[in-house]
Amino acid sequence: MQNYLEQLNPAQQQAVITTEGASLVIAGAGSGKTRVLTFRIAHLLMQGVPPHRILALTFTNKAAREMKLRIATMVGNDIAQKLWMGTFHSVFARILRSEADKLGYPSSFTIYDTADSKSLIKSIIKQMKLSDKEYKPGQVLGRISSAKNDLVTPAAYARDQHRMMEDQASRKGMVYEIYTRYMRQCYKFGAMDFDDLLLNTNILFRDHPEILQKYQNWIQYILVDEYQDTNYSQYIIIKKLAQKHGNICVVGDDAQSIYSFRGAKIENILNFRNDYPDYQLFKLEQNYRSTQNIVNAANSIIAKNQKQIKKAVFSEKDQGSRIKIHNAYSDIEEGYIVINDIKDKKLKHNYDYQDFAILYRTNAQSRIFEEALRKSNMPYKIYGGLSFYQRKEIKDLLAYCRVTVNPADQEALKRIINYPTRGIGKTTLDKIEAAAVASGKAMWEILISLEDTSRLFNAGTQRKLNSFVGLINGFAASLKQQSAYDLVMEIATQSGMMKDLYHDRTPEAIARQENIQELMNGIQEFSNNRMEEGGETGLIHFLEEVSLLTDQDNESDDDINKVTLMTIHSSKGLEFKNVYIVGVEEGLFPSSMTLESEQGIEEERRLFYVAVTRAEDYATISFARTRYKYGESAFCRPSRFIGEIHSDFVEFSGDKIKIADKPGKFTPKQAERRSFSNTSTTAKPGYNFKKVENRQGGKKGASFSGSAVGNLKAGLLVEHIRFGKGRIISLDGEMPNAKATVDFENAGLKQLLLKFAKLKIL
Ligand code: ATP
Ligand code: MG
Repeated sequence: MQNYLEQLNPAQQQAVITTEGASLVIAGAGSGKTRVLTFRIAHLLMQGVPPHRILALTFTNKAAREMKLRIATMVGNDIAQKLWMGTFHSVFARILRSEADKLGYPSSFTIYDTADSKSLIKSIIKQMKLSDKEYKPGQVLGRISSAKNDLVTPAAYARDQHRMMEDQASRKGMVYEIYTRYMRQCYKFGAMDFDDLLLNTNILFRDHPEILQKYQNWIQYILVDEYQDTNYSQYIIIKKLAQKHGNICVVGDDAQSIYSFRGAKIENILNFRNDYPDYQLFKLEQNYRSTQNIVNAANSIIAKNQKQIKKAVFSEKDQGSRIKIHNAYSDIEEGYIVINDIKDKKLKHNYDYQDFAILYRTNAQSRIFEEALRKSNMPYKIYGGLSFYQRKEIKDLLAYCRVTVNPADQEALKRIINYPTRGIGKTTLDKIEAAAVASGKAMWEILISLEDTSRLFNAGTQRKLNSFVGLINGFAASLKQQSAYDLVMEIATQSGMMKDLYHDRTPEAIARQENIQELMNGIQEFSNNRMEEGGETGLIHFLEEVSLLTDQDNESDDDINKVTLMTIHSSKGLEFKNVYIVGVEEGLFPSSMTLESEQGIEEERRLFYVAVTRAEDYATISFARTRYKYGESAFCRPSRFIGEIHSDFVEFSGDKIKIADKPGKFTPKQAERRSFSNTSTTAKPGYNFKKVENRQGGKKGASFSGSAVGNLKAGLLVEHIRFGKGRIISLDGEMPNAKATVDFENAGLKQLLLKFAKLKIL
């Protein structure tokens, strides 16, 4: 692998070979930042730096895996496997496990996911006799998470006037108290949430200088990808670790900072020059991913942001086609348009399914595309949403595993103490929980202190509780002797879970058994991989891997050649030959929640930039003019972002509709006339959604009032509010049951009941 430097341009080469000191690589999308990081690690290894002295932090586990794989092809697998590489959360979770005792945690601590955290907050709100209508667990968790990411502990929270005033202003003055109790209880249960992994690492380094020193000495080179999306807590960890050797290389693009709602701080890039005054700055300007047209379009989008580091980005790939803008009648038609376009491109250019990605602003938008894909028999994979590990039976079985590893894990304990039913009812559970709260103990401790509980329960209940404790203790005893696979198999059967599912022969229960089987396959795969890497294969380690999964990691081997559906947020860092950005409408993208501040709009615009720059060959944008919201069809208007792309780089498909110059005067009638013009670059926000029809077709659609069933004939060209334009093939039956068979341009053949379907004759 002598010629690896030849696979880089001169600017990239410099960034790779300047290994000593602090380096900042700031460059636009697709310019090879991740590639530079990968080659830099390979370069260090080839210079003889031992792999375990290099720490590389990525945004997802998948990104880390891919990077490791690439490095393995350059320097060999044995070496690549020894790198410290992963997300912040996974790397520091490992450090925390080996140092847990310093913080008073068991090394088998549980990692709480959002659902666990919310459920715990909910019970604290109940304990405090507050209303969970006022104190919504999700919102409270958001406040706590923001505090943790800013390294504000409960004690500091109370002194933080700004936070306290914000809470007071939103009539949530008790957040501070909930935060305090939440921290205390997590500690008692031996649990850390995601933010704790970073916060506790900071606490560890702050309170134990000797530990910090150990890692400072050990880690000689630090590399961070996607640096623009690090939060304060992560920033401080890296800064401390880099103090001794000072060899730190971060790569990022301020124009792609899209996680400020999770506490990411763009300032971390700006601070870099203050923290390392002798730093070297590398700029990469050539984009290797996308056609010239896509790169130019993306540049014209991001130029609208005031806050940005100016960058030149160019492509020497083909000119490419303009970005096609599709204008759909409805959300449903949008689905068909996109899927038909995929079919066309696939045939015409010989693409595989995996060359296509559909990107949306919110997870809920995926359903329509899923349906359209399913109807066309096209394979697809979907990221986010309800992932495999969020399914009930999987969570149940994992809860057993969690309690086995850490019986103090109360959220898990509550989940399975009476599943499958073993006669431990809610009253009993409430009593145990009350006793735990009163004595400041975890519920498990109450369960195992027999003398205490015998005062609380009758002999029958006592027996059931004892047998539950015995069951868990039995599993725990096997922890050290058995592999994760055998132990989970034992748990699934001994706990009665398999029997419970087996007795139920409904298709749902069968699907659940299959899911359990799939989990077992996953454990087997995990063990095999770990054995190859020479790592640990125990249940603790499997649980850790599962709790650290991100949206992007939810992928299995047979997921390879499929159309990808994901949010734009999870598409960061990835690339696809064809990208469809869908639902590009005011209020959806930019999201209505961000419209109030320029800052909010700028972040949405960066998100739009991220979306467009994922595309290699074709970027396609679409919007619908009506969309179902809360069970009703509402008019929507194209996003301002469409008008912001320089007109040289876009092309409008089908009829043009005009973006109103005066937003206040834009009416549904105008939307109906479909007057969209690519000459207007002044799309303005301000149009509110209007109801036009409810799902039962009760109210008349504003634009479809002119249809009269009597005038319909086979052969006529008609328009349908959801399916768009089509030709009537036949009419059958009498009113009120009369039906029309219509061949729609994009939605294909449909049979419609005329009393509901309002067809307009064209
Ligand atoms: P993003 O900002 O989206 O994360 P990035 O700056 O990290 O993008 P990479 O993903 O590293 O960019 O590179 C984009 C694409 O260009 C990849 O397919 C990469 O392999 C390719 N590439 C980068 N540099 C070169 C080069 N010098 N020669 C050939 N291909 C390159
Ligand atoms: Mg990258």
